[in-house]
Amino acid sequence: MRRKLVVGNWKMNGSLVFNAALLAGIKDRVDSRQCDAAVCVPAPYLAQCQTQLSDSGIFWGAQDLSAYDAGAHTGDVSAAMLVDFSCKYVIVGHSERRALHSESNELIAMKVVRALASGLTPIICVGETLEQYDAGLTKVVVGKQIDDVLAMISVEDIEKIVIAYEPVWAIGTGRNATPQIAQDVHSSLRAKLALKNPIAAVGARILYGGSMKPDNAKELLSMADVDGGLIGGAALKAADFLAIVHAAG
Ligand code: PEP
Repeated sequence: MRRKLVVGNWKMNGSLVFNAALLAGIKDRVDSRQCDAAVCVPAPYLAQCQTQLSDSGIFWGAQDLSAYDAGAHTGDVSAAMLVDFSCKYVIVGHSERRALHSESNELIAMKVVRALASGLTPIICVGETLEQYDAGLTKVVVGKQIDDVLAMISVEDIEKIVIAYEPVWAIGTGRNATPQIAQDVHSSLRAKLALKNPIAAVGARILYGGSMKPDNAKELLSMADVDGGLIGGAALKAADFLAIVHAAG
């Protein structure tokens, strides 16, 4: 039985004052016996999460990391730095980074390798654009995105990754994939993992992301292969984030 995982992706939002209220609003209201919950925040606020969440059942993490260990990479943040702030998770390959920072499957795979080597759990995002969806290419696109990562990690490491299926056409648009679409894509992703490591594939958590809200979470999360959610907009309101966490638990 896979434990559900709900992760808030704050994107480039927040301030010390805003975060303090949001973290206080969710902190003691997540029952960690029911499901796992985490927030992935902008790097400058990791210390704040470490301070405010360390005695809570909520994990925290980052939204990106460097593909390199250290050195002349101005503006980047290394895996070791994230570990310094007790991060558990790091989002890798979010579609906004693929689109706005031209991140390739190869670079994303390098980042996944770097995260795993430091003991971080990468949340690897895959997803197709609207054009690709309309052309019936969803499984081809997400299959290649995940295969390019699997080619760079060991078979044993498959049990240490989390995947997030995030159709690009559903992110921040208010338009979510139907539960059946999500289930279909998730089961195809699990089948990909199973080709490499059948046991790890059964335990691997595959999250859905894309306009998951309190009013559609229960239905999406009830699908057999939907093991949680990656939540953007709704993660910025304590009540909405909690409602999704409770729908998962
Ligand atoms: C995301 O950015 O990962 C996301 C799913 O955003 P939203 O929930 O706002 O669609």
